[in-house]
Amino acid sequence: MITFYNIISPKINHFLWRVLRQCLPTRARLITKGVECPLHCYFCSQSYENEWHIFFACDKAKEVWQAAGLWHLIHPKAGSAEGFKDLLSTFSIIFNNMKFRS
Ligand SMILES: [Zn+2]
Repeated sequence: MITFYNIISPKINHFLWRVLRQCLPTRARLITKGVECPLHCYFCSQSYENEWHIFFACDKAKEVWQAAGLWHLIHPKAGSAEGFKDLLSTFSIIFNNMKFRS
C-alpha cells in the first residue's frame, strides 16, 4: 500500500519523525536543555517558540501556508487539533486523496 510516508523524501520523513518525537530544537525546548537563548519566537516575538507556534500560530508560518495555497486546508484544523499527530494525519488524508484520486 502506498501511503504519504512511503513517497515523501527521506529528509522530509526524518523531519516529520523529529516533529512527532518532539525533538526539534525550538527555543522552548532548548531552554529546557539548559541552552541560554530567548524564549520568544524569532520572527514575531509574540509567543513562546514551540512547534505549534512556529508551524501554525505564527503570522510568518501563516504567510508561508498561504503562499503555498494550503492555509484554507490547515486553518480549520489548526485551531482545534490536539497536536501534530492529528494535523499530520489530516495532511496524509488530504495528500492521499489529491495524489491517488481517480
Ligand atoms: Zn512567531
